Amino acid sequence: MATPKVVMTSTELRLRTCIGCRKRRERVKLFRCVCGEKGAVIDRNSAGRGARLCGVDFARQALWIGAYAKAWRVEVD
Ligand SMILES: [Zn+2]
Repeated sequence: MATPKVVMTSTELRLRTCIGCRKRRERVKLFRCVCGEKGAVIDRNSAGRGARLCGVDFARQALWIGAYAKAWRVEVD
């Protein structure tokens, strides 16, 4: 009995959903947007709840659709 191939697994784990366009992309191609004390900050290194965006243009769109609030479970002005 053949062992199922798990080649896709490692790739799958590196995918993250962009909160702007809702598409799954490679993590390295996404901005990491963190909810900081001063609001949304694009920062790869900050701790805390992060949201992924594929581009700066989507940051505004994400704000419109309330994606930040969903991702961080907070109110965002
Ligand atoms: Zn996107």
